[in-house]
Amino acid sequence: MKIVLDTSAILSGMNFSDDNRYLITENVKRELKRGEDLMRVEMAEKEGVLRVAEPKERYVAAVRRKAEALGEDRALSEADISTLSLALELREKGEEAVLATDDYGIQNIAKALSINYAAITEKGISKVLTWHYVCLGCGQGYDRDIKLCEICGSKLKRRVKRGG
Ligand SMILES: [Zn+2]
Repeated sequence: MKIVLDTSAILSGMNFSDDNRYLITENVKRELKRGEDLMRVEMAEKEGVLRVAEPKERYVAAVRRKAEALGEDRALSEADISTLSLALELREKGEEAVLATDDYGIQNIAKALSINYAAITEKGISKVLTWHYVCLGCGQGYDRDIKLCEICGSKLKRRVKRGG
């Protein structure tokens, strides 16, 4: 799974697991002032588990519009906006990606844009909150994984939630 990290996620000291691919933006990397955090990021980059990526401008514009509409724009840094934009771009491309953040303002906008997000806990990234499940038989959507469709009994497939 791809995990987009905001600055709060990196500052939490979480470990980069080999099972995932981590993405941060140039702005987030620039925000890392403590040498130790920057070193962990650069180490992960060298090991190939973390990559610095930039979102396309149209996703940045979409995030700015949503942030303004929600009155959150002044609370967000350029790093926050770029992180949300990168997560939005991955979602639009249909990739299984999660935005890892402890920042409520960022979580609020992620929710409004139907971006999957997860908070960081002591154990790492918590369970993803916004997965959506679709029946492979009849197409009925569910917010939770109930394993089998209530209507036709077919299996459910996990999907990235759409809309917003
Ligand atoms: Zn069904």
